[in-house]
Amino acid sequence: MKCPNGDNFSQGHLAPYGKIELSPFSGILNYGQGVLEGLKAIRTKDGHVQLFRPEENALRMKMSAERLCMPSPSTHQFLDALKQTVLANKRWVPPEGKGALYIRPLLIGSGPVLGLGPAPEYTFLIFATPVGNYHKRGSTMNLYIENEVRRATPGGTGGVKSITNYSPVFEVVTKARAKGFTDVLFLDAATGKNIEEVSSCNIFFVKDNVILTPRTSGTVLPGVTRKSIIEIARDLNYLVEERDVPLEDVLAADEVFCTGTAVEVTAVASITHQDKRIEYRTGEEIVFHKLRVVLKGIQTGVIEDKMGWTMLID
Ligand code: PMP
Repeated sequence: MKCPNGDNFSQGHLAPYGKIELSPFSGILNYGQGVLEGLKAIRTKDGHVQLFRPEENALRMKMSAERLCMPSPSTHQFLDALKQTVLANKRWVPPEGKGALYIRPLLIGSGPVLGLGPAPEYTFLIFATPVGNYHKRGSTMNLYIENEVRRATPGGTGGVKSITNYSPVFEVVTKARAKGFTDVLFLDAATGKNIEEVSSCNIFFVKDNVILTPRTSGTVLPGVTRKSIIEIARDLNYLVEERDVPLEDVLAADEVFCTGTAVEVTAVASITHQDKRIEYRTGEEIVFHKLRVVLKGIQTGVIEDKMGWTMLID
């Protein structure tokens, strides 16, 4: 789907998977003017295929695009394109519990631009691929707190899903993985004392049954899974606090878990800060597990979707 700047997006079309043509002058190649989204089409226990809160991804893409001075498709166009992509690929949606069809919407500055500024034309496209479960049942994450490199800065793009947010953390994430950690946990740039998020997921801490998560104000991505877990937790009468989470809360927590489309809801077994490794309880009797069961239940049609979060595709 294409859009000259200042105009509306044209009618899109389905195409077999293949290469796309881009001018070497394109805004995305030269200035990284592009935003992305990530969703999963999930097979329900009855064999249907559904999406989880895709309107939230449409809204977030609009917010990200505005930040990068780009037009975005309407919510209707976004959802229609998603539906068509999933329908055309429904045979690739794995059976319930065996993974999902991962869907990646991309909005890029495809028009040519040499002087610094927004591209004159944009392209919205979606591709999809089957994925297995990110974490095997019962598996946990071991995180490493990064002391030097920051993922986001105040006034920057950390709170939106800009393509340029990701490669600056490759180096520290690769080093952490080489040392056996699952991922890196980033601190805020303003004070270096508060937890923000992991390279591609949000984080929650539980202390005495109170659930804490860093507030999103500009430097933390407002995850769709994060928002849903907060709503599920409040519905289950847990107290949820969205606020600054200093390192002391990391030391004191009873349990920790991460949320995201890819990781879903995954327990964190340990966090290492400098030379200190803190271990957390994991297993089936804890808060994380109760929240995970509800989220996964709604996504797979095992639990009634009282909130109207799922969109049945087929
Ligand atoms: N933070 C970052 C930096 C991410 O890339 C993601 C994945 N989109 C998330 C958090 C989790 O967001 P969501 O629950 O919408 O997948």
